[in-house]
Formats: sequence, C-alpha cells, structure tokens
Amino acid sequence: MMRARIYLASAAALLLAVYIFVNKGRLAPPVDQAFDGQNALSHVEYQLELGPRLAGSDAHSRAVTYFTSSLEKSAWEVSVQETVFQGQNVRNVIAIRGSGTPWTIVAAHYDSRQVADQDPQAAQRSQPVPGANDGASGAAVLLELGESLPREIQGQIWLVFFDAEDNGGINGWDWILGSRAFVSLLEGKPDAAVILDMIGDKDLNIFYENNSNEAISQELWAEAARAGYGEQFIQRFKHSMLDDHTPFLQAGIPAVDIIDFDYPYWHTTADTLDKVSAASLEAVGITVENWLESRHSK
Ligand SMILES: [Zn+2]
Repeated sequence: MMRARIYLASAAALLLAVYIFVNKGRLAPPVDQAFDGQNALSHVEYQLELGPRLAGSDAHSRAVTYFTSSLEKSAWEVSVQETVFQGQNVRNVIAIRGSGTPWTIVAAHYDSRQVADQDPQAAQRSQPVPGANDGASGAAVLLELGESLPREIQGQIWLVFFDAEDNGGINGWDWILGSRAFVSLLEGKPDAAVILDMIGDKDLNIFYENNSNEAISQELWAEAARAGYGEQFIQRFKHSMLDDHTPFLQAGIPAVDIIDFDYPYWHTTADTLDKVSAASLEAVGITVENWLESRHSK
C-alpha cells in the first residue's frame, strides 16, 4: 500500500514535470513587448550616424538594409520596391504581416532633404538636412512597431518606408514621389493608411490635419487621450499638408497624416538628434500600437 502510494505520487510528479516542460517549450506565447521609446530613439540615432539619407548615397542604401534586416528579425515579410517615378529612382521598403481584412498601412518617409533651404543662416542653406525629426523619427517608430506588434493578428498590417518624399522643388524634383509610386502600383484597396511624419519633436504638439480622414483621426486622437497623451494629441484642426497621405486620399483610401508641423528646425541644419525625445516617440508609438491592436486583435 505504502509503496503503491509512493509510486503514484512519483508518477504524478513526473507527469507534472513533463507537462510544465512541454508547455514551456511549446506553448509559451511569443514575446509581445510594449512599444519602447528608448529603443525607438536608438533607431533615430542609428540613421543619423549613417548621415543624410539622400538618393544614391551609401547612407540611403544602408538605411534600406537596416530596415529590411530589422523587420525580417521580427518575422515580417519584407520586400524592397524599386521603381522610377518622374525620372527619379525610388526605393520603398514594404513589410507585411498577415492577410485578408482589415488591411491597415502605417507608413513614414525615410529620405532626408538634400538642402537646408529654411536655415536661418544663408551659408548653411546648401547643406543637407540631418533629418532627425524630418525622416528618421517616423522610420524609427515603424521599426519599433515592427518589434512590438503581436505576431498573431486579424487581417493584415503593412509597415511602409517611403523614399523620395522630401526633395520637392530641388533640381526638378517634386514632393512625395515614393508614396505616389507606391499607390500607383498598389493592387487592392486598404481600409486605412496612417502616415507618421515629424513626430519626434521634444515639444510634441500634434493637431488634426485638415485633409485627413476625420473618423480615423478621431479614433487615433481618442486612443492617445486614453493612453495619457491628450496633451500631445490636441483635438483641434491646424495645418493642411501635402504629405504621403495625399496619394492615398486621391485614390479614395481613408488616410491620416500624424504630423507636428510646429517645428522650428524644419528643413534646417539644426534638425538634429537633440531635438528628438524618447518620450515623444513613445507617445506616438503607443497610440498607433493601441489603435492597431484594437483593429487587428484576434
Ligand atoms: Zn521635410
């Protein structure tokens, strides 16, 4: 009797141990880390170390490689869209997770402007813009979203890095070439597109943008308020932008431009790392992450 009890107890303990081992190995949920502003800031820093991300430059190519390899590590299906639009070479990076509906695109431009033509000092105006806020900040938030979004989702999410947004008016260049090329090649109709541009400013003030889809803007700003970012996402209209949301709107795709256009260093040589903060990147990242998870949770 005693021996049978000991035997049964040992068998039960062994089964429990096997159960815990199997569950740890097989059923541990994939890491779903929260969006981290410091990580996002390190992605801004990396892009600035590369130098200005100008078409044809080594820094530009290395940025493309960085986006591609980072997102592949987080199990996104990544491709580089190479095309020519209005005579310029365009390289967009597209990262896809999931399939079907809903279909949401979150995008940012990663190129930086060739000349700092808004610089207060005339001598600086032929220099390139470092593009910490105008270029690197949006791409950095996309990269951190790539790491923090859940791997199992309903429908599909695309993270898109647009090239050739920021060289309008220079040597025959027009604005927003990357997003125009992308929309012209797009098959099917996404349910929503959200653009992130100049969202790293330490003094973050994001107003409703006049041309953006109003219903989706309200969803996003409400999500920000819920997460405690009501001061950064101000529920009032301010600027009218020509930005990467424009081609989507022209194609009948609901789109929103999340942009802080009250940035004194815009298109100057002072658009540098010290103007950007982890807290601002996190405010935008968490807002977009929560909004995406509410649309795409299984
Ligand atoms: Zn710009």
